[in-house]
Order: sequence, then structure tokens, then C-alpha cells
Amino acid sequence: MIAMSQRQWEKSAELLREGLKTLGGEFDELPEFEPFAATEKPERAAEILEETARRLGDNFPYFHPLYAGQMLKPPHPLAHAAYALAMAINPNNHALDGGRASSAMEIEAVGGIAQMFGWKEHLGHLTSGGTFANLEALWVAGRERPGRRIVASEQAHYTHNRISAVLGQEFTAVSAGADGRMDLNALEAQLKRGDVGTVVATLGTTAIGSVDALDEILVLREKYGFRVHVDAAYGGYFKLIESELGDGARLAFGAIAEADSIVVDPHKHGLQPYGCGCVLFRDVKVGRHYKHDSPYTYFTSKELHLGEISLECSRAGASAVALWATMQLLPLVKGGEFAEGLSAGRRAALEFEKRLAADGRCEMMRSGGPELDIVVWKPRGDSDAAQRIFDCAAERQLHLALVNLPENWFDAAGSDEHVSCLRSVLMKPEHEAWLGDIWQRLDAATAEVTGRKG
Ligand SMILES: *Cc1c(COP(=O)(O)O)cnc(C)c1O
Repeated sequence: MIAMSQRQWEKSAELLREGLKTLGGEFDELPEFEPFAATEKPERAAEILEETARRLGDNFPYFHPLYAGQMLKPPHPLAHAAYALAMAINPNNHALDGGRASSAMEIEAVGGIAQMFGWKEHLGHLTSGGTFANLEALWVAGRERPGRRIVASEQAHYTHNRISAVLGQEFTAVSAGADGRMDLNALEAQLKRGDVGTVVATLGTTAIGSVDALDEILVLREKYGFRVHVDAAYGGYFKLIESELGDGARLAFGAIAEADSIVVDPHKHGLQPYGCGCVLFRDVKVGRHYKHDSPYTYFTSKELHLGEISLECSRAGASAVALWATMQLLPLVKGGEFAEGLSAGRRAALEFEKRLAADGRCEMMRSGGPELDIVVWKPRGDSDAAQRIFDCAAERQLHLALVNLPENWFDAAGSDEHVSCLRSVLMKPEHEAWLGDIWQRLDAATAEVTGRKG
């Protein structure tokens, strides 16, 4: 029997073979030359690749629906093929002379993402990931509001604190409520001090997928006049299914076009290989901070080198090629196939939450179900029950994740100390069909650890 993974990967390989033929044809007027690599022992290379494949077997099966742990989603076979195809050229999107076609594809793909958020005009580009995209957004924020503080929720990604330190900007974390969303009273207390330059709103926190109330933060902006940066590295694509979300998340995503900058990671929910992040600015004129003398209309011109509006220099053009190709097949439109993939994961998360809530062996968050597609629960019993269930599930080929969360998010009478909980990111469309199987394995693992049947 051929493994499922092999069938899936064979699809990418077939696409790649055909693509390479066409690409070769694009350059067939060049004179032949003897590549240096031909002298490099093809048998030995094959042996080493074989060994490489064996070494790569030492991984959790991230591509499989029974991997339901961290935020990991396999690239689409087309993205896989397009990335590998671009490797034949190895374009560099720093400058047009390093990657003409891939720079044009990047501009088109990034334009598609900006459009998803409701922006007709924008400045933006791809990055190596969410960290660098956020760094750039906070760097611009610091230039726009020099000497002022950056404020984010304590549930924001820890990268904001570190980035602020790198940039030499003061950072303050404000508390989050029992729903994992930024506490707006705590935020306002900071704003009243009069020195906050930028507020980071996280639309989809990394730990539990909570969505900060961007709509209400924007009301505060009217009064206190700060910049708003939206970190939607993980959650950004949920804009496409905002009507299926709960009230709070729907209102937040509905207001996203009012942000000053947005970060989204195509390498998280966008079916892309790593490193593919994206940063977008609403005001094209922030391009001037990248030290450029041209009039701001230049920032949208065809002569623009992406390196002139990004802090990173050399950057994989292949990331842009893979993203562009994927967006041709699966455009970012409401009701489209890509959006349906997000909905399927979300339905799986809601059903999973429902089953866990009905199971006496688990405690759920007091604030209710998942805002996006991340489910967390606290097994009743010993403090190490979560770790033991995690291990027992892994023995049954079900891979979950662990997360530490305040005890009083689950039990109002609990302390604010962090306790070990289980976490599952149901971000693959296949998770919906696999939920029954996932449940059986989890049920058995929970029974083994707690000594109680569900
Ligand atoms: C993942 C994530 C980041 C960091 O992005 P990388 O791509 O891992 O560098 C930042 N913010 C949020 C909300 C994230 O989920």
C-alpha cells in the first residue's frame, strides 16, 4: 500500500516535472554549457538524499490530520511545486535585477492580501515570517511616534516585547481577561498617561486564538490618538469567514481596514512553506522611512525594487512565486474554496469543544468556545494530567500540544497561577472528517490517565 503522504507528495512532484520542462523551454536559446555539478558524483548525492529522507522521518507527522497540536499546516501541493520550480532560477526579491518575475508576482499576491482586508491602496511586501513583519510594523510605528510606548496584551505574541527591545522602544504589556482578550480598562489606564504611541491588537492570539476587540480599541483611538497595529499573523485569513465567527471576533475583523498596519503569515494559514510573512501599511507615505528621496507615488510604481521598502535585503523570491500560484488556484474570496477550508477547521473546533464540554473529565474556559480554530481544555485531576494525556495520545498517533494558562480562566474561584492545559489547533480542512477518529484516540488516552471512562 502506498502511504497517504506519498500520494500527496507525488502530486507536487508531477506538477514540478511539467513545470521544469516549460521553464527550461523559456531559456532554450542559450548556448549549452557543462554544469560544474555534473562532476559531483550523482550516486553519492542519491545516497545522501536517501539518508536525508531517513533523518527527516524524525518528526511529528505535521501533514497528517492526526497531527492536531501546534500551528502547523502543510503547504498546498501547488505551493510545494511552485516553490521548487522557482528554485531552478533561485530569484532574490530584494531587487528587480535579482528577481523580476517573482517581484511582480509578490506585488500581485500582496495586493490580493491587502484587498482581502479591504484596502485598495497600501504599502506592503512579504517577509521571512511574522516576526520580521511585526518588526517592520513596529519600526515604522516608532518612526511615526518617536519616543512613545508600544502597548500590547499579555496574550500578544512574545515577539512584540523582544522586538521593542531590539528597536529600543519602551514596551508595556496590559492584562487580558478570562477570555484571553486585551482588558480595555487596563489599556485605557495606560492611555491616560498620555505617552502611548502604538497599540498592538492581536486578531487571533497564538495560544488560544482569542481576538482583541479592535472595534473598541478604535473607539479609544478617537479619544487618545495612537497608532493601531494589528498582529493577525495566525488569524488574518479568518477575515474571509468573519460572518461565521462569534459577535466579538466578527466585529473585530469587520474593523480591520481601519488599522494603520497589519501582519499576516501566509506560512501559517495560507498553505505556504516557511518563510512567508506579510506586512501591510495603510498609508503609502510611510515608505519614506525606508530612506528614499522619491515622491511617494514611486512606492506604487512598476520600477520599485522591493528592497527599497523592506528592512530585509536578500529574500526568497520562491516564497512569492508559491504564494502567487496558490492564490491563482484558491483566490482569497468569501465563499471560495480557500475560505471553505477555514470554515471546515472552524467547524471541527466547535464540534471538538462541544464534545469536550460534555465530558466530565475536562474543564473548559469559562468564556466559552473557541473564537477561531484553537481548542484548549484542562483535564481534571493531577497537575501533570495534561502532560500524561499528551504522551498517551502520542502513543496512539494523536499529536496534541500543551499550553500554560491561568487557572481562573477555567474556574472563577481558581488562582491566577498558570496551569498545564491541552491545546489543539484544528487548522487543516481534513480535521473535520477526522474528528471522530481524533475523539476516539483522545477518549482512550484520557481514560488511561484518569482511570475514568467518558
Ligand atoms: C506566529 C505568530 C507570530 C510570529 O510569527 P513567525 O512567523 O513565527 O515569525 C507573531 N504573532 C502571532 C500572533 C503569531 O501567531
